[in-house]
This record gives sequence, structure tokens and C-alpha cells, in this order.
Amino acid sequence: MHEIARQAESDGVRFIDLQFTDIMGTIKSVTIPVAQLNGALERGVWFDGSSIQGFARIQESDMFLMPDPATYRVLPWTSPERRRARLLCDIKGPDGDPFLGDPRTALRRAVEYARQKGYAYQCGPELEFFLFKKGNGERVVPVPHDVGGYFDFSPKDEAQSIRADIVLALEQMGMKVEASHHEVAIGQHEIDFEYTDALTAADNAMTFKYTVKAIAATYGVYATFMPKPIFGINGSGMHTHQSLVDIKTGRNAFYKADDEYKLSPVAYGFIAGQLEHARALAGVVAPTVNSYKRLTPGYEAPVYICWAQINRSALIRIPRFTPGREEATRAELRFPDPSCNPYLAFAAMLRAGLDGIERGLQAPEPVNEDVFHFSPEDLASRGIKTLPGTLGEALEELEADSLLHDALGEHIMSAYLRAKRTEWEEYRIQVSQWELERYLETL
Ligand code: GLU
Ligand code: MG
Repeated sequence: MHEIARQAESDGVRFIDLQFTDIMGTIKSVTIPVAQLNGALERGVWFDGSSIQGFARIQESDMFLMPDPATYRVLPWTSPERRRARLLCDIKGPDGDPFLGDPRTALRRAVEYARQKGYAYQCGPELEFFLFKKGNGERVVPVPHDVGGYFDFSPKDEAQSIRADIVLALEQMGMKVEASHHEVAIGQHEIDFEYTDALTAADNAMTFKYTVKAIAATYGVYATFMPKPIFGINGSGMHTHQSLVDIKTGRNAFYKADDEYKLSPVAYGFIAGQLEHARALAGVVAPTVNSYKRLTPGYEAPVYICWAQINRSALIRIPRFTPGREEATRAELRFPDPSCNPYLAFAAMLRAGLDGIERGLQAPEPVNEDVFHFSPEDLASRGIKTLPGTLGEALEELEADSLLHDALGEHIMSAYLRAKRTEWEEYRIQVSQWELERYLETL
């Protein structure tokens, strides 16, 4: 019997969720009774791939889920009588080859590409989210924090208990939480977990999202990773800290002692590559209509394509160097948001950065002032470009970027562009409340 099957038995597990992520970034699962687990670990489990959006064509519909034993976790919020565990899966085609429409496989491929160049990609995503209550007829009422009495339906510090329970659940799920705090906006939170290899980081980001949602639901509130739920206040980002490890030496390849910013040529190349591909990358890391409501000036989310040491308005921020922390040298990419598919996002980010190294691209000068105060002339004279203003614009850039086609693979890219264009087109033809207020009576 497989070691994990034995483990599940001793954990009193009754059901196993075999989980995978579709192209759009939604977690999917096929549930099996625990008695089937041993067979599933040995042979995989067949499922009909054509029932998943953009996944497979009818002729390729026979696929199987191959559980990754290292990802076995008991879901702590399930009741003992119906105890459930999850396993993340890779998807294989009928011939046993990795399925090209599987985002986890796409990230594995990008990681392998980096490995062949001598680098391991490390990342630490910081997912922000809001806790909301269903209020009287209103859809979004933030659950406040440290402001008991501000909303009279909310007992003091309710959000703090929810967040504490989320942290405990994440720890039971084997994730190392580094910090959790209230964010700038009311009802907004951030919980940071360990910095690790990209595949684990993407697995963790998916686990994080459904754990946060599951625990919030036990309190009768809901958690949302929508990038900009409320107009006029900060949105939610998924800033991602990143670095490359030199596989030969095991050292951080971004660090160089005698540089003003303690950055190596490898780091500068990586930054230059991500800046060069930023407009196309937006289509993957900020993938919803709503993402572009967040990427506007004034809310600590970036708009301009530049890098800086401390400036939070820059697209890439280099956290200030602390002596003795050479291995922690990293570049924080600030425009991803938590509506993205983390597997596709990290694959695209990695390939964009490596492209800068491979082509020897030069990073521009850092912009250490607040870019939001720059006039259009200042921006033009410094050659600072802006991110796409809409999903539609981002998709055009993405379609034209051959490196990102190669990073995600044609199968994923064409399904992705098709689905996202439909989303954009559906939105584009809506008549909004804003339009009615602005035009109905005046025109
Ligand atoms: N919430 C901000 C964003 O949308 C970021 C705040 C921060 O610097 O953590 O990116
Ligand atoms: Mg934050």
C-alpha cells in the first residue's frame, strides 16, 4: 500500500479531493472515496477533460489526474465524519504524456527551462483580500478590523479572529505563514507565506485562496480576491517577490556586493526583461476586466513601467538591502493581482525575466521619486511607458508577444485568449450605472 494511502487511513480521512487548476485559474476537483486512493496514486484517475472550459478538445477528452504525493494535506475545516484530504495533480493525456493544457505542467516546463540555464526561480506571492458581509441588500459590506462599533452589526475585532483561524488552518495545511496584517483599506487583509520554489509557491497560492474562503465561510462572511471590489479605495494585489538561485553555487544570483543597489548583472537583466514584456505580461498577471480598475494612480498599485528601490508606485521594487541578508536580495513585481492563475503568471514572469538575461537587455535608471506625480512630459522624457489601461489592450499585447506564447505553449495561449476576449467583449458592451448617471438626462 502506498505510504500516503496508509497516512490517509491513520488520519481518519474518508474522501480525497484530487485537485487541479484550469486555464482560467479556477481550482477543480474530482472526489474519490479513500478506498480508491491507493489505485489513484499508482495509476491516476480518469476524467473527461472536455467538460472543463478551454481544457481539451473532444478528441482529447480522455485524460488522467496523477496525484503529486508531496501535496497530500488534510482539510482542517472538514468534519471528522466526512474528513477530507486533498492532493494536487498533474494532468496526463491518454498516452501518459504531460497534457499541454495543464497550467501546472506549463510552469514545470518554464522551471525546467530556467534550470537548463543554471537557475532556480524562487518566489513569494503576497495575496491581499477583503472580507465582506452580505449586508441589507448591499453586496459588499467590509468586515472591519480594530474599529468595533464602526459598523454596528460587527462585534469588535471579528476580522482578527477570522484571520487568526485562517493562519491556523494554513499552518495545518503545511504552509509556513510569515506575517499577517490588516491592509490599507477597511476590511482588507494580507497574509504572507514562505518564499520558495515557483511550483510550490503557485501550489501555495491556490491552497491559500480556497483555505481563506473556506474559513471565512465558517463565520458567515466571504473572502474575495477580486482586484478592485470598491471604487475609491485600495484594491488587492498579489505582489510577488522573486529571485534566481545559481544552481551551481547555491547562492542568490541577484546579489552583487559592489553595486549601488547590491544587484548583479543577472538581476538587472531579469528586471529589464520583465519591464520589456510588461505590457504583454499584464494579460496574464492582471487577467480580468476588474484588474485594470486597480491599476490606476493613487492606490499603491503600479501604472508606470519602471523600477525603483523604495518607491511603491513602481512596477518593480527592490526592497532595501539589509547587511547579512545577501541571500534575501529580490525584486518585487507589483502588478500581479490575485485573480490571476499563479501557474501561468509565474511561468510568464520567469520567461520574461530570463529573456532579459539571455538577450543582455539593459535595465533603465531606477525612478526613486513617486511616479504618480510625473507629468506626461516627464514620463515621455524619461521614456517611461504605462501599463495597458484595459483588459482588451492587454490581450492585444499578449497576442503579439511571441516569447509569452512560447512560455505558456500554444494550446494554453489560444484557449486563454479566446476565453479572455469573450470576457472583455461581454463587458465592453454593457451599459453601466456611471453612463446612465452621466448621460441619461443630460444628452
Ligand atoms: N493594495 C495595494 C495594491 O493594490 C498594495 C499595498 C501594499 O503596498 O501592500 O497593490
Ligand atoms: Mg500589501
